[in-house]
Amino acid sequence: MPTNPLIACHDCDLVQHEVPLPLGGVATCARCGAVLYRSSRYGKSHTLALCITAAILLVIANIFPIIGIESQGNRHQSTLFGAVQTLWQEDMGLIAGLVFFTILLVPALELTLLIWLHVTSRITSGLAALALRLVVAMQPWRMVEVFMLGLLVSVVKLSHLAHIVPGVALWCFAALLPLFALLNTTFNPRELWAAMPLKQ
Ligand SMILES: [Zn+2]
Repeated sequence: MPTNPLIACHDCDLVQHEVPLPLGGVATCARCGAVLYRSSRYGKSHTLALCITAAILLVIANIFPIIGIESQGNRHQSTLFGAVQTLWQEDMGLIAGLVFFTILLVPALELTLLIWLHVTSRITSGLAALALRLVVAMQPWRMVEVFMLGLLVSVVKLSHLAHIVPGVALWCFAALLPLFALLNTTFNPRELWAAMPLKQ
């Protein structure tokens, strides 16, 4: 007769059986009351919808210009990747690499893996485990919020010298901020771990 998996309390080490939770439910330790695990408030389909929306916005944000500068009748605009290339050509390889890694590569890879993990049902546990570990490891390196803050400071400073025209990509990145914040609260790696087949 199958039994629920065991879980140990991080605070008092009491080993107890896991119980299925309703959406938004919280399991607490029977002895000390510490939180053992939670169920996300929304289902996997909600997380998937957030991921797909964020991925579409991220693609648009990388196609269209992020900002335009008008000065003395000349207008110059650049995409985010164009800005990375410019930084690289200006011998600022470290900054170019950081921007490329934290603003382009990490969000794109994270969303791709999350969508794959949520839509496919024929994944081997090894590949899925690797993908999930990558997603969890990459999350602290997604720095769209820091990028937007830095960009806004630059726009305010440059506005005294030239006319700044916000590009489509800027609005997309602005929309990505609440989406990623929502994703952080709804994505629950534990639920994906629980759905993976155990190695025999
Ligand atoms: Zn406990």
